Amino acid sequence: MKHLSTFFLATALAAFSLTACSQQEKPAKYIFLFIGDGMSSSSVDLAESYLSYKAGKLGGEQLSFTRFPGLGFCTTYSANSRITDSAAAGTAIATGCKTNNSSLGVDPQGQPLESFAKVLKNEYGYNIGIFSSVPLNHATPAAFYANVSERGSYYDITCQLPLSNFDFVGGSGILHFSEEGREMDSEEYLESHGYDVVFGQKEFENSKAEKIVMVANPRKDRKDKVANYDVQDDELVTLDKMMEDCISHLGTDKAFFIMCEGGEIDWTLHSNKSMATVEAILAFDKAIQKAYEFYLKHPKETLIIVTADHETGGLSLGSNGSGYSLHWDIVEERYAAGDKLSKEERKALNSASGFDFTSVHHNAGNVPVYSIGKGFEAFCGRIDNTQIKNKILCRQ
Ligand SMILES: [Zn+2]
Repeated sequence: MKHLSTFFLATALAAFSLTACSQQEKPAKYIFLFIGDGMSSSSVDLAESYLSYKAGKLGGEQLSFTRFPGLGFCTTYSANSRITDSAAAGTAIATGCKTNNSSLGVDPQGQPLESFAKVLKNEYGYNIGIFSSVPLNHATPAAFYANVSERGSYYDITCQLPLSNFDFVGGSGILHFSEEGREMDSEEYLESHGYDVVFGQKEFENSKAEKIVMVANPRKDRKDKVANYDVQDDELVTLDKMMEDCISHLGTDKAFFIMCEGGEIDWTLHSNKSMATVEAILAFDKAIQKAYEFYLKHPKETLIIVTADHETGGLSLGSNGSGYSLHWDIVEERYAAGDKLSKEERKALNSASGFDFTSVHHNAGNVPVYSIGKGFEAFCGRIDNTQIKNKILCRQ
């Protein structure tokens, strides 16, 4: 009897999945893909445990995207390692092909691959928006427009950006470079290749250009190297504001695809900072809420997918130091005091609070996939990161 019901369940699920596929003849008109860099299930749990703590509860509070009806798990290994880096994972998601760690938009033999954002742009006529809370030529955003053997080749990555013809590309900054004697002023180069490079909200609002590169920092705060923005600074364009800007720039007359990366989630996890990770995820969630508001206005034509490229930090909720308790109060106390912690002090705090980390690197576990909207069923269950491209293009 048990076997029989298992069989019926499997058959029903297969039929459900086939139905979802066959109904999807063409991609959704409005597609949002959110990539929380390094955002494991436990990082999502971390943020929700903080929300519950703030509400005086042990659990039950939720981020916006964990309420979505679709839930799946995605495998993330790369072509040459069980533990992927962001370049190989971004390439797998964007192009449907696994590659070696450090490779970006090329296969393991170095041959260029086509991202589905380019397919949507060139074959389907979509407007395209790609932006991140970290520099716009960093691995994850660049996986959608660049083809380079080495993710650190910022010279080549930036040279390739205008070739994509994407309509809106944004980030916390542009990584400038001097590589093997080659130097380039990114802003000047992008301006001379058809883009208006705007710094901050005012410059964006004053621009009439069709193709925009947007930097979150106002021009006066611009730094030549990485300009990673702080979500608490009033003058900086937060990720949710950039989402609003991107949607308004692309408009709704034509179809669009928007990829939004919560890039700093990975950076805070690499640093094993629990409170900063929560802040980064809450900022990411605010951007997702903007997409959800858009979905409510266009429910039959919109697809939203929220996932990660890999896990980072080996985060655990519970530690040998905390037993069966978690202590946000200790974390908040240290955080409110503005303490700069040494490596040892951070380790002690993480163990005592129960929000502990086993690594300052990436991990090999599956990452969650949350989805809602047109064709969301295709992203449920267990998938591999190389399947996302064809599922979005409805070519599976
Ligand atoms: Zn990553």
